[in-house]
Amino acid sequence: MSNAADDLVLVINSGSSSIKYQLLNPESGVVVASGLVERIGEQSGAIEHKAGGRTVEHEGPISDHKAGLQLVFDMFAATGHDLTGAGVRAVGHRVVHGGEIFYQPTLITDAVVAAISDLSTLAPLHNPANVTGIRSTRELLPGVPQVAVFDTAFFHGLPAAAKTYAIDADVAMAHGIRKYGFHGTSHEYVAGQVAGLLERDPAELNQIIFHLGNGASASAIRGGHPVDTTMGLTPLEGLVMGTRGGDLDPGILLHLMRSANLDADGIDQLLNRNSGIKGLSGVNDFRELQRLIDTGSESARLAYDVYIHRLRRYLGAYLVELGRVDAITFTAGVGENSPQVRADALAGLESFGIAVDPARNTAKERGARWISPPDSRIPVLVVPTNEELAIARAAHDVVASSENLTEIS
Ligand code: AMP
Repeated sequence: MSNAADDLVLVINSGSSSIKYQLLNPESGVVVASGLVERIGEQSGAIEHKAGGRTVEHEGPISDHKAGLQLVFDMFAATGHDLTGAGVRAVGHRVVHGGEIFYQPTLITDAVVAAISDLSTLAPLHNPANVTGIRSTRELLPGVPQVAVFDTAFFHGLPAAAKTYAIDADVAMAHGIRKYGFHGTSHEYVAGQVAGLLERDPAELNQIIFHLGNGASASAIRGGHPVDTTMGLTPLEGLVMGTRGGDLDPGILLHLMRSANLDADGIDQLLNRNSGIKGLSGVNDFRELQRLIDTGSESARLAYDVYIHRLRRYLGAYLVELGRVDAITFTAGVGENSPQVRADALAGLESFGIAVDPARNTAKERGARWISPPDSRIPVLVVPTNEELAIARAAHDVVASSENLTEIS
């Protein structure tokens, strides 16, 4: 398949001070270029741009997202891709929170940008950054259709019993409080890959997926539709993560507000940055955690044990929720790369038909693969996630169907 510019989709994931991007072919998945802009708005910013086997770097102040993107587009031009000239077919933006409004990939208009911005109360760390990235890209590529792909979308249809928090219903209604779920693009993509690997119709499959990266979440999926997930109103709930602790007694927050004088910002800092693996061990990277464990660190060992304990708690919950499970799958940085986590998460569950084959689990493979023994009742799989490809495909499809509509009308 050719990589003519008009086949390509630019995928953008904007954080508050960073932009991750990829230019790729949505059909073949071939990545033409990718990169990362870091430390936007700080004294010294940096860009690493990879294209055609080369890496181009930029160091220096990057005043805002638009300036960062302009530099990226210059790097694209220098490495043979003039995005503003020959253009790209579409831009796909990862948007964290779609609230109750957005549950499909959506062609971006001024009204859509305003609505994503209005949802910032639900995702104060993420949606404003997403909006800044969208606005900047629209200014720099005015003729290119842009599509928002929402991290919450896949979980939009969660059953009422799973998505409802047992608090005052009027308060919940007034403030949009419900379980939304996140990492949806990844869970949906991986669920589709699992069906392909098992050569089964997704509508027939009950799946449990563990997306274990820096952020971590699990989902229970029945016949292609999620029936539960660990993240909630925000990406703080559920599993233990790099810097977030997942579930905790909400009374802890009241206690800290009263006894340690913590205000909303202090609690935000505690929950988003100083909890999880980092809070317990001092490091948030799983490889470093494993190194610390090897040196005999007791706090690192405890962090690991808490992490595994939480995984197993949700595994048990989802086995019961689903009743019959046809596949258990691990994905993302830790899920794809840590045989130890996979083995410990599923240890001793042979009576449930769940087992991990040690040789398969530790094989140095990178692609989608089985790690359960051949005679095991429930297949256990490792499937690399690819959120960029999923976003590119969604953006491409939205643009193609909107063009069809325009032709018909
Ligand atoms: P992600 O957010 O999906 O990029 O995942 C990031 C996490 O994956 C970090 O905690 C990394 O330490 C972890 N990770 C990446 N490679 C490995 C590896 N080989 N073994 C264990 N953890 C890894």
